[in-house]
Amino acid sequence: MPIVRKREIENLQQMSGEELQAFLDALPEKQETISKMLDYIEDELWESTCDHHLRHAMKFMMDNRLDFPRLTSWLNDNGGYCDCKVMAEIAPAWRAKFGDD
Ligand SMILES: [Zn+2]
Repeated sequence: MPIVRKREIENLQQMSGEELQAFLDALPEKQETISKMLDYIEDELWESTCDHHLRHAMKFMMDNRLDFPRLTSWLNDNGGYCDCKVMAEIAPAWRAKFGDD
């Protein structure tokens, strides 16, 4: 049987205190930067369909000079293999926890 690693993002809702702090400390970028990236991807996908790459995410990372190898592997680890998957797999849990603005 393959080992299915539970994605960290799926546990986010239940996290608090030290566990939540450890999650935040382990993020590849600041919490508000990731929130902004999600908003950016959502806006871009409104106007164009996903090409099944992290196209808009990459653009945001380059424009903001983010550490994209780290950020991309974090997105992949949490199911965000392309822009639409980032919105489907990561954004709902993220926004439920940190808000949407
Ligand atoms: Zn996609």
